[in-house]
Amino acid sequence: MPHSPELAFLGNFLDRCANHRTDEDWLGRLLERPTTRHIHMNGDKTVIIDEKLQTFPHANSPERVLLGIDGNGSGWFASSTESQENLMDLRSLAVAGLLPQGELAILAQARSLLHWHERHGFCANCGAQTEMRDAGYRRHCKTCATDHFPRTDPVIIIAVRHGNRMLLGRQNSWPEGMYSTLAGFMEPGETIEEAARREVFEEAGVRVGDIRFHSNQPWPFPSSLMIGLIGEALTDDIVIDPKELETARWFDKVEVQSMLGGTHVQGLKAPLPLAIAHHLIRACLQSS
Ligand SMILES: [Zn+2]
Repeated sequence: MPHSPELAFLGNFLDRCANHRTDEDWLGRLLERPTTRHIHMNGDKTVIIDEKLQTFPHANSPERVLLGIDGNGSGWFASSTESQENLMDLRSLAVAGLLPQGELAILAQARSLLHWHERHGFCANCGAQTEMRDAGYRRHCKTCATDHFPRTDPVIIIAVRHGNRMLLGRQNSWPEGMYSTLAGFMEPGETIEEAARREVFEEAGVRVGDIRFHSNQPWPFPSSLMIGLIGEALTDDIVIDPKELETARWFDKVEVQSMLGGTHVQGLKAPLPLAIAHHLIRACLQSS
């Protein structure tokens, strides 16, 4: 039976054991426990059999990362595989609601961390090979003694409203009729509010004043953190940047409600509940 559609990739139930990760003896003992479980990932896909997450008694590679320890004291690790058998990708798993929310969140952690390791085998400072340390939360370059740490990329995503209307846009690569909130990567030296105001003005030409934080979501494609905001527009003239958006416009509440409910007369759609955009839009509808 599918699990109820919710904001995906939240609810990771593992203790990440950050204080123990540098202790090789502790790590060795954990790996030897018979209840230790290993997830195998191929890119953003993992092994699903009979609609359940498959875990294995052994890692698929010496470069295995510690995800954490569950409530029964069992260690969870992840490693990369090139196997193509019985795989399902994270987005499809989230849409289908096959897995408990916490397992999907653990897979997001595994995917983002492994993706970083797969692309940081060489030192960005001197070009020499790097080695995994701290159970996967550091790579070390012995040649120049530089440490490298896994990255998380903050992305602002904002529902902008003007009175009773909401600003939504679409990119031409999206499914037909899909509209969503505007979003973009934060840049170095920016506050969250500055990034949000810059993105909305760049993409749609709308000036935003007050902004409040709503919620946030890990987004493992490959390693973002979506920072969900609600902002009040100061202006309502729209000038889109065609490099970013195909179109953008103001939608009234009745129209947005029909998009969320799948009853829009022209077939326009809003994002599914697995995405934070859905919840930002819904929050805007419910507020005055
Ligand atoms: Zn180096």
